[in-house]
Amino acid sequence: MSTVSDFFGSKVFDDRVMRASLSADVYASLRKTIDEGSELDIGVANAVAEAMKNWAVSNGATHFTHWFQPLTGITAEKHDSFISCSPDGSVIMEFSGKELIKGEPDASSFPSGGLRATFEARGYTAWDPTSYAFIKGKTLCIPTAFCSYGGHALDKKTPLLRSMEVLNKQALRILRLFGNTSAKRVVSSVGPEQEYFLISQEMYNQRPDLRFTGRTLFGAKPPKGQELDDHYFGVIKPTVAAFMEDLNEELWKLGILAKTEHNEVAPAQHELAPIYSTTNIATDHNQLTMEIMQKIAAKHGMVCLLHEKPFAGVNGSGKHNNWSISTDTGQNLLSPGDTPYENAQFLLFLCAVIKAVDNYQDLLRISVATAGNDHRLGANEAPPAVISIFLGDELNAVLEAIETDTPYKGTEKMQMKLGVDVLPKFNRDTTDRNRTSPFAFTGNKFEFRMLGSSNSIACANIMLNSAVAESLRIYADRLEKAKDFESALHEMIKKTIKDHRRIIFNGNGYDDAWITEATEKRGLLNYRTTADCMPHLLDGKNVDMLTGLGVFTIDELRSRRDIMLENYCKSVLIEANTMINMVHKRIAPAITSFTSDLAKQAGEKKSLNPDLACAYENDLVVKLSSLTDCIAERTSALECSLLKISDAKDIIEESELIRDTVLPKMSELRIPCDQAELLTAKSYWPFPTYDDILFSVK
Ligand code: ADP
Ligand code: MG
Repeated sequence: MSTVSDFFGSKVFDDRVMRASLSADVYASLRKTIDEGSELDIGVANAVAEAMKNWAVSNGATHFTHWFQPLTGITAEKHDSFISCSPDGSVIMEFSGKELIKGEPDASSFPSGGLRATFEARGYTAWDPTSYAFIKGKTLCIPTAFCSYGGHALDKKTPLLRSMEVLNKQALRILRLFGNTSAKRVVSSVGPEQEYFLISQEMYNQRPDLRFTGRTLFGAKPPKGQELDDHYFGVIKPTVAAFMEDLNEELWKLGILAKTEHNEVAPAQHELAPIYSTTNIATDHNQLTMEIMQKIAAKHGMVCLLHEKPFAGVNGSGKHNNWSISTDTGQNLLSPGDTPYENAQFLLFLCAVIKAVDNYQDLLRISVATAGNDHRLGANEAPPAVISIFLGDELNAVLEAIETDTPYKGTEKMQMKLGVDVLPKFNRDTTDRNRTSPFAFTGNKFEFRMLGSSNSIACANIMLNSAVAESLRIYADRLEKAKDFESALHEMIKKTIKDHRRIIFNGNGYDDAWITEATEKRGLLNYRTTADCMPHLLDGKNVDMLTGLGVFTIDELRSRRDIMLENYCKSVLIEANTMINMVHKRIAPAITSFTSDLAKQAGEKKSLNPDLACAYENDLVVKLSSLTDCIAERTSALECSLLKISDAKDIIEESELIRDTVLPKMSELRIPCDQAELLTAKSYWPFPTYDDILFSVK
């Protein structure tokens, strides 16, 4: 029996393999590139490519691919084999430094939002040496960035790496001001908790809505749903347990630190959390995790649903982005320290996050916006679309004391003295858990809970890293010029708390009263849909910050807004067309055939005995007939709303039409269909119902 430590990372060209297979010089030079971002010369690249190929071939690989993350949100790869002909007619396995560093996928069909003219449609991929190469199946996958020949980012990784760089730069300026001369790098880390559903393949195959859109467009609530909370952390079913075992093994081989797994609130819903790592590696790993989950599920006769809201009336799936920043010397900058001085530094980083989240609420909302996630946010299972920060009572009271220059009266264990030049000392690990906050401080990290389960975590972390870097930049500009560092620091912390207090909320985020207070009294943003928020990506303050830091160019921002809106429109249009198709081909015929059989049976009974009332049959026939009429009418209304979409003059107007006409018509159409499902005999209903699907896995 092999143990986990025997095979952990066995499919990764990681530091252990590099050290063992590269000459000392080549290794040192590669390490410098990885750690410090220095340029790699072609000689080194050739040596690395050779070692990588030999390792991959000896582990069964025959092909290689540049693995990248285009704006479709999933990963892409194009496989080339290592095979080359040698003059004597035999084949040799070859892989050059040039092939390692740069690739030219024929990728003209990926969305570019107008960034690529057709003459330069191909774009290129460039090796990201900070994320290890790995083997998937028989293919060596080389993590890469994807750019146009004009140098514009066409993927999610490039801006993520840029955002990490700007955060590093600004955070180091702050650390130097606090006398830290040893830290060389500051990185942001993420542990994304991934939720998902597992259902049987057999059920899935019978539902066109699940197959085409990832979610059920029809379906009445089952008599038993998640009311009893008996699934949450419950005993894991055997098929699911076998899936999890396989999944863990596969992830561990890829060096992915899958750590915890448990059942979630909804029936058939589960969660997987890895141990956190730096944001770009965590992003790569999360993409891989989602892909492998689907592959392993299929092996076990199941389908893994990553849609944000696969079932109406049942909790949807999200992803919690646990985020922190730390130094290469191992100091977590969001962890309260043991001395007043460390605490002052902690408070400054905390304030940088508070300021960032308040100033760029819209960017955080935009970073999680998809048609799927719009169903989940604010539906009493996930945070609302309004962003606020939870700090916990203790930290909140500390900030209040600083803001008002009053002594803090904490619990006894708080050795808290607030003076002009002494910042409070308080203990860590006293934060309460608040599950309803979209952005919660949890002791030494922030948990951003608005991400949808299928989102790439890149987007959220690009915005977080950048917005916090911007706060730090402003702080560093001021503090570097200050004559009296300590009082300038104190004043700045105080001012941040005063200016941004509105974003802090420690109450119940699911409460309607909070939404009213947030929007009406505090002036916080509440962008309910993707169509509402996405245009604000190009608001002046957002463009200034993101281009000012160099995370995006204005052209990249424009193209991203368009691509995200196009995705939104396309997703909803596919759903609408699937609905119409299911009504015409399946639902309406099923109801009609059931009602006509009912009527026939009533007729037969009456012919036996004319005194029989046949109230049951008659009543059902009447109810179902009026529901069918309603279905017909609402289907036509939906069809009409679709016809008008082509009148839209641009993508913004199209997204608004979809939000205001198509989506409401879809919800209206669903109602009579679900009512009819409850009245129709099971044997007539044309596809599995919620109780079939949600309890399908044994
Ligand atoms: P829970 O939120 O379920 O109580 P934990 O707090 O233990 O669980 O961790 C949730 C996730 O947060 C895990 O993926 C974990 O690795 C990650 N995490 C823990 N510490 C940090 C940190 N300093 N930075 C980023 N992520 C972290
Ligand atoms: Mg959590």
